[in-house]
Amino acid sequence: MRPSLYNKHTKIVATIGPASREPRVLRDMIRAGMNVARINFSHGDHETHGKVIEHIRRISAEEDSVVAILCDIQGPKIRLGKFTPEPMMLAIGDTITLTTDDVLGVNGVVSLPHPEFVQDIRAGTTLLLDDGNLQFRVKETDGRNLVCNVVVGGALKPRKGVSAPNARLTLSAITEKDREDINFALAQNCDYIAMSFVRSADDIHELKMLMAELGQDAAVIAKIEMGEALENIEAIIGICDGIMVARGDLGIETPAEEVPYHQKRIIKLCNAAAKPVITATQMLESMTDNPRPTRAEASDVYNAILDGTDAIMLSAESASGNYPVRSVEVMSEIATIAERNLQSFRGPSATDNIQSSQARSDSSIAISRATFEISEAIQPKAIVTTSMSGYTTRRVAKERPATPILCMTPMATTYRQMALVWGVTPLLVAEFATIDEMISIIIRAAHDKGLVKRGDRLVIIAGVPFGIDGRTNLIKIHTVGEEGEI
Ligand code: PEP
Repeated sequence: MRPSLYNKHTKIVATIGPASREPRVLRDMIRAGMNVARINFSHGDHETHGKVIEHIRRISAEEDSVVAILCDIQGPKIRLGKFTPEPMMLAIGDTITLTTDDVLGVNGVVSLPHPEFVQDIRAGTTLLLDDGNLQFRVKETDGRNLVCNVVVGGALKPRKGVSAPNARLTLSAITEKDREDINFALAQNCDYIAMSFVRSADDIHELKMLMAELGQDAAVIAKIEMGEALENIEAIIGICDGIMVARGDLGIETPAEEVPYHQKRIIKLCNAAAKPVITATQMLESMTDNPRPTRAEASDVYNAILDGTDAIMLSAESASGNYPVRSVEVMSEIATIAERNLQSFRGPSATDNIQSSQARSDSSIAISRATFEISEAIQPKAIVTTSMSGYTTRRVAKERPATPILCMTPMATTYRQMALVWGVTPLLVAEFATIDEMISIIIRAAHDKGLVKRGDRLVIIAGVPFGIDGRTNLIKIHTVGEEGEI
């Protein structure tokens, strides 16, 4: 599949798992529109993940397509230990003790092997178990044992997740397992690391420090799934390279009824900051078992795109469902339809104030805005950005132009990371030193890929001198072939 300027603008992140890790399925998912492959480190082992990454790199190259690798690190997920018999039937008013002792649980006592977590829990705290299906209230604690009353009962199974939405947790954001997984992901040259259960900008800082110590780098996606992260959202967006609205855990940590509000607010803040944002979890949940989405799911995907999300994500649908390829196709189809109508739903301006003080000190903001205005007026074949870090390209994408954006970069990492950004088709090109050389290299690259032809009009933006991040100061309306470059 050759790259095309007329692909959908919205990017698709698909979680790879037992249903999708075979090369044949991966190829079909890439052809159907998968832009980013998510490797979920809450499941599977390094050997399996390594093979998947190898397949994706090979197949995407064969398909002349770019697929970014996003490694999603488990983070401090709190789980019950094992107990017998299972399930344990609990009724309202029952008493149950959660203990840090390494015991095989029996009726009334279950191990919770997370001392750091238990130490932070006070009497009166509400605990949610198994995605909020069961609820306990802590009656008393000695720092090692939590004696709880059952508030919402049901069948409790071993290894289920436990959360304390209102507690201030001091757990380290990066566990021992996470360190091993991060090391592995960086050794695989992954493009994005998604950090789970982020609470503040400090957590992201800790991950960036760890990567610096390891002498390697990847872009960081902060998963927003905790109440504390919502309180610190501006600072988190400021420091990370992208956001995932992780609606699964977010809907446990905060009331599920509030998730749409948080989703819309987070997307708006990310758009304003020109940081890519992924809307995740249960988007096409019923397609895990069925070949068609429900009307509500189709609406959810459509509305997330209207909200301004860069990317939509598949979880169980593509990892363990019966229709991984079809799920990608359905997302692509909904995205294409939503994008056709995007302009009519836009507010008066999706951008920040062109006269803001930030715009006065950062010329790329003004240039990106002008690029949007010019492309709306003259409707060129493409907007061409030349970008080292991807900053300029993200600023143009933030304006959500109807015109496709071609990101020309000599940086392999930027090339792959741009696969996540709304409306961007990345192309890897040779380095250039002069403006003439730039025109010749980028036009030839786009022409060779069949993306542009003689006579097509382009809006080209660049920063001169080349090689300095975020200094966009050149804008050129160019007709392909006018300077004899092809
Ligand atoms: C989520 O909670 O929505 C999510 C994406 O995270 P995970 O799948 O890792 O639980």
